This record gives sequence, C-alpha cells and structure tokens, in this order.
Amino acid sequence: MKTKSQWQELGQSLNFRNLAYINGRFQPSASGETFPSINPATEEVLAEVASCDQADVDLAVTAARKAFQAGVWSRKSPAERKAVLLRLADLMEQHRDELAVTDTMDMGKSISEMVSIDLPDSIDCFRWTAESIDKVYGEIAPTGNDTLGLISHEPVGVVAAITPWNYPLMMATWKLAPALAAGNSVILKPSEKSPLSVLRLAELATEAGIPDGVLNVLPGYGHTAGKALALHHGVDVLAFTGSSRVGGMLMEYAGQSNLKKVWLEAGGKSPMVVFDDCSNIEKAAQTAAAAIFSNQGEVCIACSRLYLQRSIKDRFLTALLEAASAYQGGDPLDPDTRMGALVDKAQLDTVSRYIKSAMDDGATVLTGGLPEYIPGRGFYVEPTIIGDAKNSMTFVQEEIFGPVLAVGEFDDEAEAIELANDNRYGLGASVWTDNLSRAHRVSREIQSGMVWVNGWGGGDSTMPFGGVKASGNGRDKSLHSIEKYTDLKTVWISL
Ligand code: NAD
Repeated sequence: MKTKSQWQELGQSLNFRNLAYINGRFQPSASGETFPSINPATEEVLAEVASCDQADVDLAVTAARKAFQAGVWSRKSPAERKAVLLRLADLMEQHRDELAVTDTMDMGKSISEMVSIDLPDSIDCFRWTAESIDKVYGEIAPTGNDTLGLISHEPVGVVAAITPWNYPLMMATWKLAPALAAGNSVILKPSEKSPLSVLRLAELATEAGIPDGVLNVLPGYGHTAGKALALHHGVDVLAFTGSSRVGGMLMEYAGQSNLKKVWLEAGGKSPMVVFDDCSNIEKAAQTAAAAIFSNQGEVCIACSRLYLQRSIKDRFLTALLEAASAYQGGDPLDPDTRMGALVDKAQLDTVSRYIKSAMDDGATVLTGGLPEYIPGRGFYVEPTIIGDAKNSMTFVQEEIFGPVLAVGEFDDEAEAIELANDNRYGLGASVWTDNLSRAHRVSREIQSGMVWVNGWGGGDSTMPFGGVKASGNGRDKSLHSIEKYTDLKTVWISL
C-alpha cells in the first residue's frame, strides 16, 4: 500500500478526463456548459466537467443505436465479447491506483476502502460476468413432435444506466459488466457529484476493444441528462441505482415515453438485530460499527437501525462505543483513515438535520452529534450513535446516508422481527444469533432482499444484490443480473 504522500503525489499528477464520451471520443457538451467536480475533503475544484443535456443524449442514443444495429458488438460471439471484457479487467488492474485515487478525491471515501473493496470488486465483476457470458444457454421447450420451440436470450438494444455517487466505479461496473457482456450498447450517466472515474473507464474500454458507440458516458445533472435519458424513446432499458424518490420518477418517465423497462436498485434503512444468544458480542459490535461508519455511512446497505435484546444492551453498547472511536474522520488519502468526508455540503446539511430531529424527538446522543462545519476544511461528521431510538421517530424511519446509528431494544424474537420490518425499505438485514433455527426463522421473516447471519455486507460476484419494497426491484451481480439486459425470444418452428 502506498503512503499518504505517495497517494497525494499520484492525485496531483492526474489529468482528470472531464468531457463527455460519445462514440469513442471525448467531446464538450453541446451547450458548452460545465459543472465543477469538487474534492469533498478539501473543497478544491478537481475539474470543470461537461454538463450534458438533451442534445448530448440524442447524440449518444444515435451512436449507441447505430453501433447496436451494425452488430459490431451485439453480433460478436459471446466468447469474443468475453475476451474484450477480460482485457478491460486487466487494464483496470493495471490502472487500479489511478482509479482508486480518482474516486477518493472525487467523493471523499478512504483510499484504503477503494483499494480493498471498490477496485477488487469492480475488476472481479467484469471478470466473473465476462467468464459467464459464454456459458448462458438457451432452451428447447417441451412441445409436441411436430414443432420445435426455441427460447433464446437476446440483448435488449440500448441500455441507459444512471448511477449514484457513493461507489462511483463499482456501481457503474455492476451495470456495465452484464449489459455489455450481453451485447448491448450502453449510455452511462454517472452522478454529477463523482463523475471522473467512469470517464477514464470508458477510455480504457475503448483501449480494450469495445467498439465506438457501444459505451458512452454522459456526465451531467439528474434533471437534465438523467431525465432526458429516462424519457428518451430510443432507450430500451433503464438501469438505475440511487434514491427511491428518483427511482419513482424514472418509472413515471418510462410510462410517459416508451414503457422502457426500469430496473431500480434504490435506498435502504437496513436493520441489525442482535439476540442475547449471540456469543461473540465483541465481533458483533465491531461489525455494527463497520456497518454504519464505513464509507461515512454513505452505503445503501448501511445498518442504520440497531436493535439489541434488552438483556445484552449495556454490554453491547460499551463494546460498540469502543469500536466507533476508531472511525474519526481523517484525510481520505491517508491509508490509516477509516472514515473520510461526506460527499458535499448538501449531504452534511441533511445529516445535521436528521441528528437535530433525533434530539428534538427525545433520543439520546451517545457519541458524536451535530457537526461543526468550518468552510474550506471539508465536510466531516463524527461517527454518531443515538440511543433510546423509537420506530416512530423520523430519523429511525428515513434513510440518512451518513454515519448516524439509531439504537433501539426489544424483548423477544417476535418483537425483533416486527421492529425490523416496520420500515418502507427492504434492502439488507443483519441477524446475530448462535441458534441455527432462530437464524433461519428470522432470515425468512425479515422483509429484505439480503440477510447476513452473524456478519454484514458479505457477498461476491456469485450472489445477487438488491432489495424489495421501496428498495427496488432488480438485482445486480450474479447470473441474474444478465436477465435485466436480455429479452426472451421464442421461435416456434412447424416441422
Ligand atoms: P439520487 O437518486 O439523488 O441520484 C442517483 C442518480 O440519479 C444520479 O446520477 C442523479 O444525477 C440521477 N438523477 C437525479 N434526479 C434525476 C431525475 N429527475 N431523472 C433522472 N436521473 C436523475 O441518489 P444519490 O444521492 O446519487 O445516491 C444515494 C442513493 O443511492 C441512496 O438512496 C442509496 O441507498 C442508493 N443506493 C442504492 C444502492 C443499491 O444497490 N440498492 C447502491 C448504492 C446507492
């Protein structure tokens, strides 16, 4: 691992790509407009980035459609597409330090997380999906003797992917790998808060052999570039990761335009439930801290609601407060930093508002609290744990997306399940117990797409990632992710 000064040096030496990537070329936005991309730890402007709108979306959709119809990618054999995507994974590996430092400077997360989580996961996602694509078979239906019923998977055409700022490279990768592997053309709109790493990724994709027009990247705001993509009649599938609020708007845009399919990976307010038969309280407490403070709590699966069985509450809180003290905010480029800066001032204000509302509602701040913002010094919040939390309180119900943990308590299993399910989201859940039957019972009853037993956040490219209820509908990763980017074609042949 590089030292802090080596990371700083690398960051200073980078020439950030800041233009739209359309048809294999960087170009300014049609309007000439730009927006600043800011380093949240220092508030310095890293780059003025092309701000795309309808005109750029039209250009990108035309390029993407033309490439798709020409068959330069869509009609390549799966084995050929696999080879190109494996080359892209190799290029990401070669440029991993550059990609890591770009996301760290662009959105404020610690470099150690970039190096240990985002980069290996993103590279593996490309490799695993590329390796899978020439192993996906069609089917022959069990029809009668005088017919042959063929069922095959076809690429959908033009995919628009709209992604958030919290894992800029990784969230983009989870869409790009399956969409490209399946033979589609893709237009990616990254968040305006962290657009830089995927612009470099697009360039590497061309170097790997992705033909022009097959991968386009349009930086820009949600209400301009994002909305124009979502309303576009030339887009066949919209794959989104972001808030449930915007996810709902995208469904409306699809309804107002061409009924494009909309896949949503949306928000969360995941519970962690710890039963008194959990023997490893230390480990559970350390995991509870990691589950809310890693990536500054800006994690869709952050366990922001902790429910403790009453008899272990005090012992658990002592261990939790100790574990939380390791997450004080620091320079994201320092490899020892475990918590970086929030992405921007708006996010800092949102987090402050929720901490204030918790205090107004009568909850008790056990550590951390309202941040003191010093202009020019970055957007930092202390790890904050708030006890006496009740499900009726706003900060327990709504997604905060910051390092703020609500702690409540329960008496028995039925109450734990009821508290965990009393929320509009259903993304992840963490359950701690030494009782195998209880682990199965509670996992089955909890309304969420993912459950971790005696852990949090576990998963790899083989496992689907996604939620239920207001957390969305689609699944990223695993073979199931490919289903989002293919249509079933049936051919009924009369013999
Ligand atoms: P957001 O919804 O504000 O923005 C997400 C993307 O949508 C951005 O690119 C944004 O520019 C775009 N957008 C905004 N308004 C739009 C509009 N009207 N039309 C089209 N596009 C629009 O979310 P965010 O703040 O970037 O990210 C945080 C959210 O993402 C949290 O809710 C988090 O839980 C969620 N998230 C979910 C997952 C998951 O896998 N379920 C993973 C990561 C983040």
